[in-house]
Amino acid sequence: MVAIANQKGGVGKTTTAINLGGYLAQSGRRVLLVDMDPQGNVATCLGIRKHDLAYTVGEVLLGEVEIQQAIIASGRPGLDLLPATPDLAGTAVALAGVLARETRLRHALQPMAGWYDLVLIDCPPSLGLLTINGLVAAHQVLIPLQCEFLALEGLAQLRETIELVRTHLNQRLHIGGVVMTMYDGRANLARQVVEEVRRYFPQRIFNTIIPRNVRLSEAPSHGALIYEYDPTSRGAKAYAALAEELLQREEAKR
Ligand code: ADP
Ligand code: MG
Repeated sequence: MVAIANQKGGVGKTTTAINLGGYLAQSGRRVLLVDMDPQGNVATCLGIRKHDLAYTVGEVLLGEVEIQQAIIASGRPGLDLLPATPDLAGTAVALAGVLARETRLRHALQPMAGWYDLVLIDCPPSLGLLTINGLVAAHQVLIPLQCEFLALEGLAQLRETIELVRTHLNQRLHIGGVVMTMYDGRANLARQVVEEVRRYFPQRIFNTIIPRNVRLSEAPSHGALIYEYDPTSRGAKAYAALAEELLQREEAKR
């Protein structure tokens, strides 16, 4: 299980979750995408209309429905979704008052362990209870970082949160890697940022760097993943390579 987290918004978490999930499903893995962001963008990006959703992750976290009732097929082989809607914001508030509030997602996902090769959890842009639930359920965190000024800002806080979760709630959690996103090779600044992050996270940074590519930002409005919308775009090639690199890293760990 992989949580995709960074408390900054707009760094490419959701884009990474859906396209990485898409390529992994294409390569024959059974993938579950879990949307932990009240913006509920994952369903929209996959072309699923909100009013077609019976239940969402919010009801699952509160124990109102079984997870199997809320998981839906994305319409692509091997790619399922546990969706979110804006109601999740209210759920997060309600969750603060329930027992075992940090471990609700992990608990809910337990019966699905044999069903999926990979669960990708798209976290919201905060370090609140929803992100904590994602970190507690996961084995590893992927951190997307935008190749821009202040990319590393807030990272100390994220690492501290990961460390706290590891100490108190989830010993197996580790930082799986940092994904540099929205890279503009023409900008000196972007190159400097990548160098700086390499110093800060030696080995952990993925070799694959995601370029800034307008096709990646257009695809969601067509309810399409990048390999459906424009498989030859630079963005598509980059996410295919990232999926390959993630699989190789997993192989290497065995
Ligand atoms: P987050 O989930 O971290 O808030 P998103 O994945 O939603 O970030 O990305 C924020 C915005 O940037 C979205 O409009 C998305 O389509 C766009 N975007 C993401 N990655 C890229 C990229 N590599 N190139 C161009 N646009 C991108
Ligand atoms: Mg997002």
